[in-house]
Amino acid sequence: MAFQLPELNYKYDALEPYIDAQTMEIHHTKHHSTYTDKLNGAVKGTADEGKSIEDLLKDVSNKSIAIRNNGGGFYNHNFFWEILGPSKGMPSGEFLKAIETAFGSFDAFKVEFANAATTRFGSGWAWLIKQSDGSLTVTSTPNQDNPIMDISVVTGVPLLALDVWEHAYYLKYQNRRPEYIDAFWNVVNWTKVEDNFKRG
Ligand code: MN
Repeated sequence: MAFQLPELNYKYDALEPYIDAQTMEIHHTKHHSTYTDKLNGAVKGTADEGKSIEDLLKDVSNKSIAIRNNGGGFYNHNFFWEILGPSKGMPSGEFLKAIETAFGSFDAFKVEFANAATTRFGSGWAWLIKQSDGSLTVTSTPNQDNPIMDISVVTGVPLLALDVWEHAYYLKYQNRRPEYIDAFWNVVNWTKVEDNFKRG
């Protein structure tokens, strides 16, 4: 079974005005679609065909650069669409406690996450992850790398992610990445993020 481009759980305009419909549509139907197609091309006819995306990325140090880049792009965007949404909500319960333990407060966490997203040079991602000891931390990765890859400097279970490639924001925000990061907080699906925490 080849990797499939997933449908979104909401319409392209559902995140307006924070993330515009045109950006969402191009991001999903062009960028994510291309990563999916190229990943399928990279594994087709090899011993990796049929493996889960998680299994490929956890062993990516032994894989081709095409699997690293396109497998990362496939996984990261699957993950990103799920933690976005028009619904509001806030972290609660054990998840909120874990944030406060790690960062001092929810607001302090947001500052640290935004800083990771702002200072990621060039293209990449900012992440909130749960480490193997259960603690939370913020990290960032270049290109389409992510914290489940064995090559990642900081590894863990992704809870929240932000795509800071220019293709994620340039149409609306041009070079103003910090404005896009500020807007992002309005379209986080905290229910999903908390679910990632509970299952991670
Ligand atoms: Mn992207």
